[in-house]
Amino acid sequence: MSLPELLGHEPVVDGFRRALARGRLASSYLFVGPEGVGKRTFALKLARNLLCERSNPADLAPCGECPSCQQVIAGTHPDIEIISLPEDKREIPVRLLIGDAARGRRNKEGFCFNLSRKPSRGGRKIGIIDDADRLNEEGANCLLKTLEEPPPRSLLILLSNNASSQLPTIRSRCQCMRFQSLPETHLRELIALTAEVENPERAEMLVGMEGVTLAESLLWAEDAFWNFRSELLDVLGRVPLPIDALTQVVQTFIDQEKTPIDRRKRMVLTFHLAAYFYRLLLRWSVGSDAHIQGGGSINIDKTLARAVSTATHSLSRGDGNTIDSLTRMVDRSLAAGQQTSQNANASTVIGCWANDLSICFSLMV
Ligand SMILES: [Zn+2]
Repeated sequence: MSLPELLGHEPVVDGFRRALARGRLASSYLFVGPEGVGKRTFALKLARNLLCERSNPADLAPCGECPSCQQVIAGTHPDIEIISLPEDKREIPVRLLIGDAARGRRNKEGFCFNLSRKPSRGGRKIGIIDDADRLNEEGANCLLKTLEEPPPRSLLILLSNNASSQLPTIRSRCQCMRFQSLPETHLRELIALTAEVENPERAEMLVGMEGVTLAESLLWAEDAFWNFRSELLDVLGRVPLPIDALTQVVQTFIDQEKTPIDRRKRMVLTFHLAAYFYRLLLRWSVGSDAHIQGGGSINIDKTLARAVSTATHSLSRGDGNTIDSLTRMVDRSLAAGQQTSQNANASTVIGCWANDLSICFSLMV
């Protein structure tokens, strides 16, 4: 496996290497870790490794050239089943797991059915459930049979952001593999290794932003996102906070995307950036501004520094009211990100968030 996908997940890699060397691969795994750390990429790499026709699986180094590897890379391998949350749903529909009852296809198609069939290229069947946190009780129960009596030579991988959102019946039947947030040095290396980042200086600015995932950092380095970042920070820095301008800047950015999933992604990025910005103000307000002076671990670019400086100009440092309000603004932005992930209506979420921020802001100045 190539370096970028594995960097930072050595404990998981070592766990699989040992299991494979002893021929002791479990039949079901629960991959748990924050969104964006590479669980899905790792699951697909593992699948490619197990299905490769030339390499020894214990080496964790699929050749990348055999027909199996090629099919996995192209997303067409007949022995890999992947299901995820459909864009317009809040829960994974049961029909995806055990077939559509309305069409008389119950237990005749779907994820569990496909997993129970003979591998067509002779190796094994691998099932990946993305967004496993969105399985409802009925869905989880459908999986129980597969977990209790795994089909021969099958491997099931559930991807979860939060182990506690899995039902105990599932959790207790899977081997749990924890994916940690990537340490800063790894993020730097990963960003440097990722070909899409055209502007390494930008990428450098993004490293160390608290609460920002690798996937988000890479997006922010793109031109469209980078420009929006400047516009958003410019508005957030203004006093008093202009609700209309804020709503408009964010809405325009979201509206550039067509699909609900991409729109939600942009919203979550926006709210995370705002939370980060208010965290910086909060640090300043409690008297810790090493970061803002550029002395901390975070690199502050000119746009961010300007926004922080204009906003703090009219705030009272060390004032209880200011600290309270800024804390609320961080929380409010994180809550907006949560609401977005739960499919709440976009304009409502943006409008209420901007309005609440402006109320909090007016309490401080
Ligand atoms: Zn291969």
